Amino acid sequence: MNLRNDWLISEIEALYTQSFPELLYQAQTVHRQYFKANAVQAVTLLNIKTGACPEDCAYCTQSGHFKTALKNEKLWDLESVLSKAREAKENGAIRFCMGAAWRSIPKKDRPKIEEIIREVKALGLETCVTLGMLDQEDAEALKAAGLDYYNHNLDTSPDYYKKIITTRSYQDRLDTLEQVRNAEIKVCCGGIVGMGETREDRIAFLQQLVNLPKHPESVTLNQLTPMPGTPLENTPPLESFEYVRVVATARILMPQSYIRLAAGRNLMTPELQALCILAGGNSIFYGEKLLTAENPSVAQDKAFLETLGLVTEESCMR
Ligand code: SF4
Repeated sequence: MNLRNDWLISEIEALYTQSFPELLYQAQTVHRQYFKANAVQAVTLLNIKTGACPEDCAYCTQSGHFKTALKNEKLWDLESVLSKAREAKENGAIRFCMGAAWRSIPKKDRPKIEEIIREVKALGLETCVTLGMLDQEDAEALKAAGLDYYNHNLDTSPDYYKKIITTRSYQDRLDTLEQVRNAEIKVCCGGIVGMGETREDRIAFLQQLVNLPKHPESVTLNQLTPMPGTPLENTPPLESFEYVRVVATARILMPQSYIRLAAGRNLMTPELQALCILAGGNSIFYGEKLLTAENPSVAQDKAFLETLGLVTEESCMR
């Protein structure tokens, strides 16, 4: 299958809206062309600087614009990060992702971040960070420190985005993704569904992802976990099959990307998570916290994977 970056909305809509069995069958067929059927990737995410963020993302407890129960924390010291990274490695994680609630990296903190990346990598883990917007100098410095992946999400469709964030434009996000690519860092990019957007928005969001100049190596698909104190706290839950449709369509559109089932898994039954895996999802976050949201425990996930006969592997590619 040729990788395409010129998908029309009508083509994606035709995939997304076909019958559920047909969609799952296609997604599973594409999945098996590139990936092992029974392997998933496990990555661990740690918040290394929490809260007081100047951005106003309507889903996020870390925004300084909203009154939430979150306790702000300064940037973690190196040893505390390394101790969590070692623990993640012992639990089978292959990549350690670190997030800081910043608009962009404060200049004074960049050397600390570079050191953290170097030392986590020295443990034999892949590294990923999400630190807000990057300029070219930041991107090159992170690459020189050994960074493997940068996470920066598009969040939703360009139209719906304006209802979710006002302090940073969609184009700002595309620009950061371009800087990451220019520095030859791999891209982790996705968004959140269930924020009150329409199905058309979900399709337009998928179009943005697939039509990036190169498909993201990791596609992170979150389902909104409504957080008390945020503007989205009372958002009604998304109909569960819609999330599965998003996963399956992403798998068909981006056949060589890891499709990650991210936030929201703790709200799903094991049966629904199994459907997402059948739909081509092949990466999960391992660990009890996802930045500030809940996630299944490692013990729950180990039992779940064992029940389904799945193994965690460093590379799930065929
Ligand atoms: S999602 Fe990130 S950028 Fe937006 S408010 Fe939360 S921490 Fe800040």
